[in-house]
Amino acid sequence: MRKVKRYLQILLAVTVLLVGLVVIFEDKNASTTIKDLEEETTSANTSNKKEETKKKKMTVYIDPGHGEIDAGTISYKGTYEKDINLVIAKQVGKILQAKDVNVVYSRTTDEIYSEIEADDMQHRIDESKEVKATYVVSIHCNASDDGTRTGVEAFTNTEDDKAMALSTSIMKELEALKYTNSNGIIDGTNLLHMISFAKVPTTLVELGYIDTEHDGKYIMSKVGQNAIAKAIANGVLNELKKAE
Ligand SMILES: [Zn+2]
Repeated sequence: MRKVKRYLQILLAVTVLLVGLVVIFEDKNASTTIKDLEEETTSANTSNKKEETKKKKMTVYIDPGHGEIDAGTISYKGTYEKDINLVIAKQVGKILQAKDVNVVYSRTTDEIYSEIEADDMQHRIDESKEVKATYVVSIHCNASDDGTRTGVEAFTNTEDDKAMALSTSIMKELEALKYTNSNGIIDGTNLLHMISFAKVPTTLVELGYIDTEHDGKYIMSKVGQNAIAKAIANGVLNELKKAE
């Protein structure tokens, strides 16, 4: 009988020990699980933040005016406007891309969507909306009938605050280059398809009158094109910062 009691006592002690060990082990397991969960949540938050940053990357639609059969105006040296527009537009795009802006071009070669001007313009407008662009910057060079006009100007919808702010910002930068006079910001809603039917805040900059040597020489020079592209990009970037 005593032996049995002793045996029971040992059995009880062993059981208590085992139960104790199981509790400690379970506890450790539980704390590891919580830590794991915490880590998972943290990594989920980080990837969420990354997603947000991705979403916040803004898109600018850059439209080098004209193309293909539509040469635009002709410079005093015989250069086509469409070619000058494309060179400068690509430079603007590169600067913006370097600043983490998503850039979509209406064209990157001497090709157009349609030879019917209105269809081609509308395609550019629709595309800018499709890619969810924050702004549209259409780049052009001008010429006058009598070849006497000079100056930089921007066409926009003057009733659209965002488009006005964008135009003002770009014009300020271009005017600071002082390569020509400024003709200011002009309401283009009844003049230009790109402005009349714009679905996104749009500015159409006319960099100058390339049929004159006064404007054309600078606009067609490497130095001039670099400075103009930088000015346009800075004008856009200043407004994008506000839109963030
Ligand atoms: Zn043009």
